[in-house]
Amino acid sequence: MPSYYTRIVLNERPPGDIDSKTFRSEKASYSELKVGDDQVLVQVTWLSLDPAMRGWLRDERSYLPPVQIGETMRAGGLGVVVNKGRDVKLKIGQLVSGTFGWTEYAVVREKDAEAINVSKGIFDIDHLNTLGMAGFTAYFGLKDIGQVKAGETLVVSGAAGAVGSMVCQLGLRAGAKVYGIAGSQDKCEWLEKEIGVTKAINYKSPSFREDFKTIGYLDVYFDNVGGDILDMCLSRLNRNARIVLCGAISAYNSVGKPKGIQNYLTLISQRAKIEGFIVFDYAKRYPEAIAEMSQGLRDGTIKRKFHIVEGLENAPSALPLLFTGGNTGKLVVKVNESLKT
Ligand code: NDP
Repeated sequence: MPSYYTRIVLNERPPGDIDSKTFRSEKASYSELKVGDDQVLVQVTWLSLDPAMRGWLRDERSYLPPVQIGETMRAGGLGVVVNKGRDVKLKIGQLVSGTFGWTEYAVVREKDAEAINVSKGIFDIDHLNTLGMAGFTAYFGLKDIGQVKAGETLVVSGAAGAVGSMVCQLGLRAGAKVYGIAGSQDKCEWLEKEIGVTKAINYKSPSFREDFKTIGYLDVYFDNVGGDILDMCLSRLNRNARIVLCGAISAYNSVGKPKGIQNYLTLISQRAKIEGFIVFDYAKRYPEAIAEMSQGLRDGTIKRKFHIVEGLENAPSALPLLFTGGNTGKLVVKVNESLKT
């Protein structure tokens, strides 16, 4: 075992964009990693980078407490059990997922380390994507809140990202006409050619507003970005439309309050609904999503793409890619290459 391991902690709260001072790397003594009777020591292999992390850096009330200055940055990840306490049933060598943070090693309670398996057609990192938070968010957001039906028009923003690309595919499986909004021509091509959306529209194109109008009116809008795109969708609602407020990434780096929405009166005239949700509230139903999504991965009808960043030390500079549109599909960090998972 090594004498020291690396972890990355919050150095200061960024007022706006994350920068080189936001996080700092620390060496910690491996001997400090003692396991209690109900705990496991996990060697981390992969980490998920998520837009929500920007919210966890704010000293504000939210669905989870903020990460404290000097605390290891919170992150979902995968790893392998390398030591365990007396009462633990998990075996040494078991692949697990959990909130391990930006660290090479983490001690967590056994109940916070979920045993996962790889099988034919399913990679370990699918458990950070389609079979993890991104997939569950797409599944429950679209099915429960969006209640999309065959023949309806579904518009998805952030469509070439982890959640968005899954929403597009679930919408197509439900028989909807699916329109994806993304920030580059390459992403739009990927959405049309690989994911199979009805049409993809580049919101950075000068003709975006006119292009958007060619969709006509929409029944479900799955909102990953908030801001002007949400406002535009609000002006294009069909009667009884549903707006799924999943995220508002355009506002996450804002200093002060985000700009308010203007076109909300259509919610009244079109008898429409707008509803936010947090995926963790569906935890009891994750097996339902896993069953459908793993079948789709195995038979190749659900596609996914990973943007892989090598090395824990590169996590701080990779996180901003989510806010500049540098990723297509799920952004993950490979922490430890040597482990066979
Ligand atoms: P993505 O993989 O979609 O990455 C973020 C993408 O957002 C970028 O690639 C970029 O793509 C786009 N983006 C960034 N800034 C802007 C902007 N100003 N305007 C429009 N698009 C922008 O991330 P995830 O799939 O992990 O997350 C998507 C959304 O889902 C986020 O808002 C996240 O907070 C939310 N979420 C919500 C959950 C919940 O429980 N409610 C759980 C998990 C995620 P582009 O090039 O197209 O601009």
